[in-house]
Amino acid sequence: MTVSHWQQAEQEEREVDFLVVGAGLAGCTAAYIAERAHKRDVVITDARDVALGASGRNAGFMISGLDTFYHRAIECYGHKTAREVWAMSERSFQLWRGFIENSPFDVPIDNCGSMLLAETEEEAKELELAARALDEDKIAIEYYSRDPLRRGYLAGIEQPLDAGVQPYLLVKSILAQGGAEFIPNNELYRLEQNGAYVRVYTRKVIFKAQYVMLCTNAYSPNIDAYFVGKVLPTRAQCLVTEPLEHIPVPYCGYSDYGYMYYRSTFDGRFLLGGGRQHFRDEEDDTVEDRLNPKVQAFLDDYLKKYFPDVEAPVAHRWSGIMGFSSDGLPLAGTLPGRSRIGFAVGFTGHGLALAGATAERAVDKLLNGASAGAVDACRFE
Ligand SMILES: Cc1cc2nc3c(=O)[nH]c(=O)nc-3n(C[C@H](O)[C@H](O)[C@H](O)COP(=O)(O)OP(=O)(O)OC[C@H]3O[C@@H](n4cnc5c(N)ncnc54)[C@H](O)[C@@H]3O)c2cc1C
Repeated sequence: MTVSHWQQAEQEEREVDFLVVGAGLAGCTAAYIAERAHKRDVVITDARDVALGASGRNAGFMISGLDTFYHRAIECYGHKTAREVWAMSERSFQLWRGFIENSPFDVPIDNCGSMLLAETEEEAKELELAARALDEDKIAIEYYSRDPLRRGYLAGIEQPLDAGVQPYLLVKSILAQGGAEFIPNNELYRLEQNGAYVRVYTRKVIFKAQYVMLCTNAYSPNIDAYFVGKVLPTRAQCLVTEPLEHIPVPYCGYSDYGYMYYRSTFDGRFLLGGGRQHFRDEEDDTVEDRLNPKVQAFLDDYLKKYFPDVEAPVAHRWSGIMGFSSDGLPLAGTLPGRSRIGFAVGFTGHGLALAGATAERAVDKLLNGASAGAVDACRFE
């Protein structure tokens, strides 16, 4: 985005202490932590409104860990990092549960656990290895060597501490509890650090901020070149049926290595998402919020194959843009050479597991220089 010479006349200039850009899960949590735990005076702003990005469009699965099976995470990042990231998802859940308990709204949450399911023999073997690695780390799970749902899957791992939440209301509730001033419809289009403050150019206001925290996830590469190649925009698609008379799956269900996901909504509908793995040319590297008929047709076929009993018509379809990180771990840090501009981005489809704890660490890093541990973006330097 740019702002024309004529529009500039309407831009007020304003000094702020701590500015958060992006009012999704990460931004609202960062604003809350900066205001309440660090006693900063926080303003939060968004190009649109609260939770209109991925945070208000996701399936609401609070599923622990990364988007890869646990033993694969150990192979890829090392045991210490895999364990630490798992603990970060536990911390995020603790934050969400606290926000829900103290919420001014009634935020629905279902402590139903999750069930990872295998569609092929190869995936079943992977699940068994994942189950073994989780058991060795004393993480509560139940492994099934047969399909616990009797729907044609081959094996399953139940994670009883996972849950399903209404994500849009959760984010609105975090914003409401934070106490920060919120400025919607205010896109950031440029920012620069001048010594001990940051000049932030947004559509309505030119801020002079002590600290800035970017929580712009998939959209971050449009804001600063630092994020190009590190945060990769990726589209995801969902559908939801009309209300059903039965509950087809009593958990948050996942299959095909997590690419497919399904659950019952709080008003008795069936939600199904995924399918992008078959259409990467069209679904990767885009910030366009639009339905892809091929992905939606794949979802329709999946529904018929595994859930033939779900006969209610599809009521609604939607898409959303996720920010995948290039190495699969979230990024918390400050921009190189610009220590007053922090960020918490790149949740790789697992923001409900990782955005809370990452935002918390990112604020601590920005204000106190503390390491963000496994998710510290200094690993790219
Ligand atoms: C269909 C779908 C299903 C998903 N399912 C799950 C799930 O079940 N479980 C799970 O854990 N995760 C899921 N995810 C991923 C999860 O939603 C994200 O990881 C999480 O919401 C990221 O939160 P965020 O705050 O970083 O990003 P966002 O919610 O995208 O927030 C970024 C904000 O930045 C704002 N912004 C961007 N650029 C600018 C700018 N220039 N100026 C001002 N503001 C700007 C945007 O408007 C937006 O509000 C899913 C995602 C999708 C799309």
